Amino acid sequence: MNYFGLFRAIVCVYDTSMKHVDVIIIGAGIIGCAAARELSRYQISVAVLEKEYDTGFGTSSRNSGVVHSGIHYRSGTLRAIHAVRGNHMMQQLCEQLQVPFKPTGKLTVAFDRSQCEELKVLKAQGEANGVPGLEIIDVERMQRLQPGISGIQALYSPSTAIISPYELTIACAESAHHNGVEFHFGHTVSAIDRAEDGFIVHDAEGLCPIHAAIVINAAGLYADSIAQMAGIQGITIYPCKGEYYVLDKRLGDQLDVLIYPVPGHHSSGLGIHLTQTVDGNILIGPSTAYSDSKEHTGTTSEILRALRAAGHTLLPTLSEGDFIRTFAGLRPKLNPPEVGGFGDFILEDHDRFILLAGIESPGLTAAPSLALEIVALVRSHLSLVEKQHWSGTLPARERFLELPLDRQQQLVEQDPDHGSIVCRCEGITKAEVLQAVDRIIGPVTYTGIKLRCRSMMGRCQGGFCIPRIAQLLEEERGITMDQQQLKGPGSPMYHRHLRPEESTS
Ligand SMILES: Cc1cc2nc3c(=O)[nH]c(=O)nc-3n(C[C@H](O)[C@H](O)[C@H](O)COP(=O)(O)OP(=O)(O)OC[C@H]3O[C@@H](n4cnc5c(N)ncnc54)[C@H](O)[C@@H]3O)c2cc1C
Repeated sequence: MNYFGLFRAIVCVYDTSMKHVDVIIIGAGIIGCAAARELSRYQISVAVLEKEYDTGFGTSSRNSGVVHSGIHYRSGTLRAIHAVRGNHMMQQLCEQLQVPFKPTGKLTVAFDRSQCEELKVLKAQGEANGVPGLEIIDVERMQRLQPGISGIQALYSPSTAIISPYELTIACAESAHHNGVEFHFGHTVSAIDRAEDGFIVHDAEGLCPIHAAIVINAAGLYADSIAQMAGIQGITIYPCKGEYYVLDKRLGDQLDVLIYPVPGHHSSGLGIHLTQTVDGNILIGPSTAYSDSKEHTGTTSEILRALRAAGHTLLPTLSEGDFIRTFAGLRPKLNPPEVGGFGDFILEDHDRFILLAGIESPGLTAAPSLALEIVALVRSHLSLVEKQHWSGTLPARERFLELPLDRQQQLVEQDPDHGSIVCRCEGITKAEVLQAVDRIIGPVTYTGIKLRCRSMMGRCQGGFCIPRIAQLLEEERGITMDQQQLKGPGSPMYHRHLRPEESTS
């Protein structure tokens, strides 16, 4: 049953006995979902507990979506090892899961002589890490790769690519779910007791506790609280905000390669850069500012002004109307503000409690590799026997707007819903919206629909399609307007058929 209010019935509301699984994963971000997919190959029971009402509502959908090459990380660190191995694995994983993957390459650009020296250091570090094909290139070659680019020299890393971070997270979750992993949304882990042969995990919502032989802490920004619940002290996560502008698709073809500055020595980010998205937008950002809140992902006028200025410098043809929306993500940093820079990832086995902490950038890139490492740790406690019928691929998904005309006609003849456009900006059809609704593992929300089919992501930000989606949900899936939520219970889209801000009562 896939609508609001009933999702908790999935598991245990009527079950008074304690549930047991072999492995609990806390957190359905890219790390939790990639680990869940890898573990789903084996004959063990796995449950993912997630406080939000979908996968990827945390940092995993709020980043640049870059598959980093591995040049930026000190050799021998977990960040270096897993970035390089994750980069190698990413294209095949995306092909298996039908997630768009675009090899773009990246230019790290020097603007003065001292930065040219930095490029040599980065190149040597990248080569020591095993990054293939690195070259320091001159202005002429830079211009050929990206006409109009400024700077005097650049480090070219051809193995850098871009992906859709939320599509990858969702697809890993779907693949895991198809292979038997249970997902429990709206399940905020609030206490963990050590028990004989494992742990008893409790939740703040008062659902039934679950016993597990192994617990994996993939809670991102809250990895410190979860570690404390398991008796592990000394981990503190400092949220550090990165704000972005999203530019209109009109400009998408102006950027052929990703452009990064040379990062400062004590910088806590990689500097404000220009990145394409796989959907053809350009991102400007992210900024770097430590924050007091692990929840607040709002943007700030001061930083947005700075991003606009940086955007005009990097792409002088930009006009005011090209900045279409903003968003921000929070880096789960281990280093406090007074130290800055980057800590290494933590991946440790504390007697069956597997702790991941400080999984900031390049965590998205590293996820497939970290998932293999997590499986290796689980294997040291449980016997992992492969399933006979594991399937690691997902069915192909067609984007109507990108199909040749004859295929579009064929689809419309098969089902007229393919001929009805719901989201004008992104060209998303009624059939695609309904497919997105039916793919959602947990409760249906507007954010869940948006992340799955891109409706509401275009210039008008849902002004045109939200009323149509509301009607579709009511008429086609029986979810009345009063039940429709933005991102889960407590975030109603409508009150008596009015959007909350329009409602007078
Ligand atoms: C601005 C920015 C830019 C970045 N750019 C890149 C990039 O280009 N390339 C790259 O490789 N990486 C990048 N990263 C890093 C990458 O986004 C992260 O490393 C990755 O998303 C971390 O995934 P995660 O699963 O650990 O965390 P999350 O996605 O945050 O998932 C953790 C999940 O745990 C859940 N949770 C927390 N507490 C509880 C609880 N008590 N009970 C149940 N569930 C709980 C949360 O709701 C959340 O869904 C960037 C990060 C930021 C912030």
